[in-house]
Amino acid sequence: MANIKIVLKSGKDQSLHRLHPWIFSGAIKKIYGLPLDGDVVEVYDNKDNFLAVGYYQPGSIAIRVMSFEKTELDIDFYRRRIQAAIDYRKKAGIFNLPATNTYRLIHGEGDGLPGLIIDYYNGVAVMQFHSSGIYREKDTVCNVLKEILGDDLKAIYNKSESTLTARDDMDVKNGFLYSSSESIIVSEYSYRFNVDWISGQKTGFFIDQRENRRLLQFYSEGKTVLNMFGYTGGFSVYAMQNAKSVDTVDVSERAIKMADENVELNFAGDKRHTGIVADAFKYLENIEGKYDLIVLDPPAFAKHHNVLHNALQGYKRLNIKAIEQIKPGGIIFTFSCSQVVSKENFRKSVFAAGANTGRKIRILHQISQPADHPINIYHPESEYLKGLVIYVE
Ligand code: SAH
Repeated sequence: MANIKIVLKSGKDQSLHRLHPWIFSGAIKKIYGLPLDGDVVEVYDNKDNFLAVGYYQPGSIAIRVMSFEKTELDIDFYRRRIQAAIDYRKKAGIFNLPATNTYRLIHGEGDGLPGLIIDYYNGVAVMQFHSSGIYREKDTVCNVLKEILGDDLKAIYNKSESTLTARDDMDVKNGFLYSSSESIIVSEYSYRFNVDWISGQKTGFFIDQRENRRLLQFYSEGKTVLNMFGYTGGFSVYAMQNAKSVDTVDVSERAIKMADENVELNFAGDKRHTGIVADAFKYLENIEGKYDLIVLDPPAFAKHHNVLHNALQGYKRLNIKAIEQIKPGGIIFTFSCSQVVSKENFRKSVFAAGANTGRKIRILHQISQPADHPINIYHPESEYLKGLVIYVE
């Protein structure tokens, strides 16, 4: 079947010449046919020059570009892209990180595969599909992974129920696509974590904070540490290496149970850690002078541009509380993982929070995501993790 042809309005081809992989519905002049969610489409400018091939989806992002060259989106295409992602990680040293067997293998647009996330947990690949087009190719992706990873791949789990909303022609169920495995213990810089992709959030573990957890360890010696929004206790485990005490707070009872278990796995019987089930905003009310170091790693406050303003207010309110309450000379690791919040906007929110408290603040580090979550330079949105390490006088 021939691919459906889509022509863009005059001038709307500019972003494609700059290799940005999203085409918004407003850019489309004419569609030759009736593409269904996930169909392959070819994109042309209004002078009939070929621009790109990608997957169609109804909605604001109408086309996710898979290639700017005329190419079949077949198994060879996936083989090339997945191999390139692996070669890149080899060059970046990801597979040689000391005592580490967990990393992100495919990071969507960052690896030229929009809509596909694959995390690797000590032999188990957990996939998350964000577009129907690539979801239709899930068997192809599985076969290529098996081919390339060989014995390093023990099982593949598909976790896309929450990322692919119910589509008429598709029945999305979480489950194993190849072999199976119980939850697994992974190692990250020799720290051990139990990863449960079935009941955990996203693919089960936030690999993206790996290098930032190391930085936290560096600063936590002898400190009283609060890990707010702790989830499975990633930051807490690193802080436990030499902190005076570590409190992990999360609104989810299940998260605190997992954090407690992960701390126990690494520091059995150590009484310096306390897991606390509480709401962040409430907990931060009554901790004046209690902590030397606070981590604020909340869930994405904004998933869409139309709620950006509220999200920025949310970051400001949260940071005001932490800045007000931290001990003099304290350090805050503050993050935003909302894709629609830019680095500049996030920094402005923290600036506004600081100004509100009147305390003197210096920026120690501006941090982001590690190399296995690559940022496609043509797709600024792929820089989703923003962090500031600030010193509060
Ligand atoms: N820092 C974690 C990831 C955080 S994910 C890591 O490195 O792994 C966000 C966490 O915030 C989730 O565990 C969620 O349960 C928690 N959360 C969401 N809203 C909250 C609130 N109002 N108060 C406290 N925790 C909250």
